[in-house]
Amino acid sequence: MKLYNTLTRKIEEFKPIKKKEVKLYHCGPTVYWTQHIGNLRGMFCADLAVRTFKYLGYKVKHIRNYTDVGHLTSDGDDGEDKMEKGVRREGSNPQEIARKYIKIFEQDTKELNLLEPTIKPMATEHINEMIEMTQTLVDKEYAYTTDLAIYFDISKVKNYTKLSGQILKENIQGAGRSEISDPQKKHPSDFALWFFKAGTHKNALQYWTSPFDSRLVENGQGFPGWHIECSAMSKKYLGDTLDIHMGGIEHIPVHHTNEIAQSESANGVPFSNYWLHNEHLLVDNKKMAKSEGTSFSLQEIKEKGFNPLSLRYLFLTANYRSKLNFTWKSLEANQNTLNRLYDFMTISDTVIARNEATKQSSSCTQTAEDYKDQFQNALENNFDTPKALALIWEMIRSKEINHNDKKSALLEFDKVLGLGLDKIKKEEIIIPDNIKELIKQREEARKNKDWGLSDELRNKINKEGYAIKDTPIEQK
Ligand code: AMP
Ligand code: ZN
Repeated sequence: MKLYNTLTRKIEEFKPIKKKEVKLYHCGPTVYWTQHIGNLRGMFCADLAVRTFKYLGYKVKHIRNYTDVGHLTSDGDDGEDKMEKGVRREGSNPQEIARKYIKIFEQDTKELNLLEPTIKPMATEHINEMIEMTQTLVDKEYAYTTDLAIYFDISKVKNYTKLSGQILKENIQGAGRSEISDPQKKHPSDFALWFFKAGTHKNALQYWTSPFDSRLVENGQGFPGWHIECSAMSKKYLGDTLDIHMGGIEHIPVHHTNEIAQSESANGVPFSNYWLHNEHLLVDNKKMAKSEGTSFSLQEIKEKGFNPLSLRYLFLTANYRSKLNFTWKSLEANQNTLNRLYDFMTISDTVIARNEATKQSSSCTQTAEDYKDQFQNALENNFDTPKALALIWEMIRSKEINHNDKKSALLEFDKVLGLGLDKIKKEEIIIPDNIKELIKQREEARKNKDWGLSDELRNKINKEGYAIKDTPIEQK
């Protein structure tokens, strides 16, 4: 398996820590609003990785978290907690907001046929783990305390920007870097591990006591910064070193850079061997974003009469590292293509029946094995799904391969593609009414032991291009 590793900026051969096992952590959604289909593209990309590794025979432990505290509107140390923004909008409380949007998100992921992660940890249920890691960083002098927060001191790590390759002075992505809201903060790129319930956060809706001291609050009351949740939860469920860490491309310079700084400083070992980042879904060639008013939800896709899996098909048409421009026209085209695939899955049975009847199946000499190899090679080449899709259509068009073989190969491929081909049932084959009538008459004849009539009817059915397989007549 070859992967593009953001950390080394190279395509590398994947070497798991433990043979045939993958420990994969994926940064999940902040559950303060409905995730748009751009967000869902990221979730799909992790699903593609999980499905591919499973297809290749790996055991995959897949963790995808829910962020329900600490993620500020800036992604950095400024702005309000996104959960509080949700509360301001809807007037309930953070727990209700989280419950509501997790429900919608889980419904959406199900409809996009994403496999369930092994564990879906929530940040607010891991406050102790985050406090513990923050304490370790304080003890090891990687962190310092101000009246308002505990900050990670980036000057203490050797190669802070190794993931992004940015030069720190130029590293102005993410707010909190251009503007310092806490005068005691030493460097604009230092980032909060713990916010005290003070200053702009004095009315924080979610807070916990902690062992940390501030002149401004009692019992160290406050809440964790965003980045520490992924370091703490991945440690708990996957250990100190992961095989693969995934997330959106915009996480490279801030969130993931900070996760690495925290985890490697606290644990003293490399954090993740491979870093995979997915590109964005675009609208009018700009990142689909709620703030730009350019986002669509899966609900809106369905309301316009689209099958959610046609969106999945659209996602498959681009490599996960490529930008993908969303238009309704392209969604429609992909829905049509998907429907052609579904048609193939249903009519092929009828064709098999015809072949059996006219004894032509013996003219198919090749099998689908060659395509299975090529399909696997495409996936092993950094998840080349556009190639994989091209291959399945080439196979479908091939005159050399038996329909039955094509169909079973497609079912095999669908373990990765996830287009729901296994749900296309045989019953959906449309048998014309006149054939159904002939079958009924023949069944009657068999029951009456009128073998002459039965054979005559069988011949008639065969002449129409359908084959009948008899089962023993039920004994009364
Ligand atoms: P958030 O809920 O804001 O934490 O975002 C959840 C995930 O959605 C993040 O990992 C982002 O990388 C991802 N994301 C946001 N916008 C897009 C987009 N237009 N295309 C792909 N992924 C996106
Ligand atoms: Zn994360």
